[in-house]
Amino acid sequence: MYLTMTKYIVLISMFFLFGCQTGQNDNSMKNETNTKDNPLTGKWNTPFGTPPFDKIKSEDYLPALEQGIKEHDKEINNIVNNSEAPTFKNTIVTFEKSGGLLKKVSMVFDAVESANTDDVLKETSKKIRPELASHYDKIKMNKKLFDRINSVYQQKDKLNLDFQDKKLLEETYKKFVRAGVNLPDDKKKRLQEINKRLASLSQQFGDNLLEETNDFDLWVTNKKDLGAMPANFVEAAAELAKKKGHDGGWSFTLQRPSIYPFLDYSPNRELRAKIFKGYTMRGNNNNEYDNKKVLEEMVNLRTERANLLGYKTHADYVLEESMAENPTNVYNLLDQVWKPALKTAKHDRNMLAVMMKMDGVDDKFQASDWRYYVKKIREKKYKFNEDETRPYFEVNAVRQGAFALANKLFGLTFKEMKNIPVWHKDQQVYEVLGKNGKHVGVLYMDFFARPSKKGGAWMNELRMQSNIDSFVSPIVTNNFNFPAPTGDSPSLLSFSQAQTVFHEFGHGLHGLLSNVKYGSLSGTNVPRDFVEFPSQVMENWMSEPEVLKLYAKHYKTGKVIPIEMIEKMNAANEFNEGFRSVEYLAASYLDMDWHTLKDTVHRNTLEFEKQSMEKIGLIEEIIPRYRSTYFAHIFSGGYSSGYYSYLWAEILDADAFAAFKETENVFDPVLAAKYKKMISLGGTKSGMELYKEFRGKEPAIDALLKRKGFVN
Ligand SMILES: [Zn+2]
Repeated sequence: MYLTMTKYIVLISMFFLFGCQTGQNDNSMKNETNTKDNPLTGKWNTPFGTPPFDKIKSEDYLPALEQGIKEHDKEINNIVNNSEAPTFKNTIVTFEKSGGLLKKVSMVFDAVESANTDDVLKETSKKIRPELASHYDKIKMNKKLFDRINSVYQQKDKLNLDFQDKKLLEETYKKFVRAGVNLPDDKKKRLQEINKRLASLSQQFGDNLLEETNDFDLWVTNKKDLGAMPANFVEAAAELAKKKGHDGGWSFTLQRPSIYPFLDYSPNRELRAKIFKGYTMRGNNNNEYDNKKVLEEMVNLRTERANLLGYKTHADYVLEESMAENPTNVYNLLDQVWKPALKTAKHDRNMLAVMMKMDGVDDKFQASDWRYYVKKIREKKYKFNEDETRPYFEVNAVRQGAFALANKLFGLTFKEMKNIPVWHKDQQVYEVLGKNGKHVGVLYMDFFARPSKKGGAWMNELRMQSNIDSFVSPIVTNNFNFPAPTGDSPSLLSFSQAQTVFHEFGHGLHGLLSNVKYGSLSGTNVPRDFVEFPSQVMENWMSEPEVLKLYAKHYKTGKVIPIEMIEKMNAANEFNEGFRSVEYLAASYLDMDWHTLKDTVHRNTLEFEKQSMEKIGLIEEIIPRYRSTYFAHIFSGGYSSGYYSYLWAEILDADAFAAFKETENVFDPVLAAKYKKMISLGGTKSGMELYKEFRGKEPAIDALLKRKGFVN
């Protein structure tokens, strides 16, 4: 259920939160390429102004991005040197419109680099990222520019602004203040030092983790130790053993697609314990890749930075920008789910321990035994085999299901376009049309895995919707890593892969239905704990019988998936929710505990973690989903004080879907119109305001607890 956040959002939030983190630009690059003939910088004479992928070469991105930076600099200088007094229009709107070329090219570059990269694009990324970071730093530290913005901000109540203008003014002002533009020079200098150091520590944390993950090799030579592992996993392990230089046998690593099947299937307890220990000790082996000192320094630098900027803790600084608002609200949320989750997990642990005894193992049940016995219970009690459901979820049928749902709810239709250039031949392109045939936007779908594509699934915006001088329609993409069809066997998805299609399509709709004035407040430009809501909510619809009837049809016979199969699947999936919630919540508490420190007294990682977990009463048979030394989300990604946000968004999606259920019509037109209105407003209002306008009240946690089976 916790799927990849859109890459674009990650980049954007990095810009907001850590924009000045990577501030070195000693890379004096010469760009002598003639940009006159560059298809990226010229006018795009394509249907709906889509990027001319048929003309763009990988070599075109670097000069186009550099030209974008230069033009942006010029535009900023024009704002600063304007002899007229600062006004909302000549300063705030002009600033919003500045950097048009850079944004246009960056968005296409980010999307293509993720979905269809090559050596040139990789090299371009390495060169341009530090340049971009330093470019945006320079803007946010530009005191003269800020003085003009501030002068408008100080008159904000007298300017007769509408809510969108007002929000733009506030967000623009905040962006500069949060970056430290108001600090005296010595503190500004220290802030820049901290940001620079944090950037390199964060990089080091990630590099160490990669080394520790790749370094491990569990070599198995006895076939018996693989148990009933399915053939595809066995083959992958045999291939890996060859790659690792063994003559025969099977190798398992600490990558999830490798360790998980081993823990699920291997009847060899000692080997399970060995690979499990390898996994949980990453970054904690007192070798050159140890992450303890790295993260201890990071935590203190973050606290120092927050204090410099006038905040009590790093979490206070980060959460100010979120729907949760402050650490107390986050802890309250975690506490509410923690108690029932722990109770369920303890109950399940006892059941699993009995199962192990019945299996003839007379020993204490351990964390490394958990997955193995869950698998056994699923088979024994629920008799569920995922392979039986796949023929009902052929990839194109699932896509049509998502389209049919959007049609029922929002009246959208999707017209395949063959004349729009693509970045890869597998891409499908659709024009999205509204009720009366009005153009809404363009949607690209790129389903299949290939070496040039990053792992996971995500959504990108290739062009944000805006409406300053005229209406600019959105262009969005959905990207997946499903197996491509071969010969006459189509691409058949598992249920959770089908869920992923609806999830990313939900992000897509968030971008497509946007209808606001300013691009920086449009589509998915919303707080981190709101952004997963419009995507996760779609997962509710996709398994409703009324919706399944629309698309889950056997690819050979055309028969709709039997309801008993769905029920069996749901029951099997529901089991083990206690474990899933407990390991997720434990990691969320750990994240919050590290980032609510008020002082920079040195903490020892292992002691701190132990105390943090003792405080919540975590049982020893479960460890946090991420221990500190390999918690990449918070120490090398953009999620510090934010790991809770998946749960926050889950409250919203469960409560929102409950509203539809209450009407006894999951397609209720009145509610669907309200929902559409809510997501069309992007980030122009706070998440809570938007939600209350839709639901008529604040979200309640009950629907989520019920869904997780945590109510008595
Ligand atoms: Zn998502």
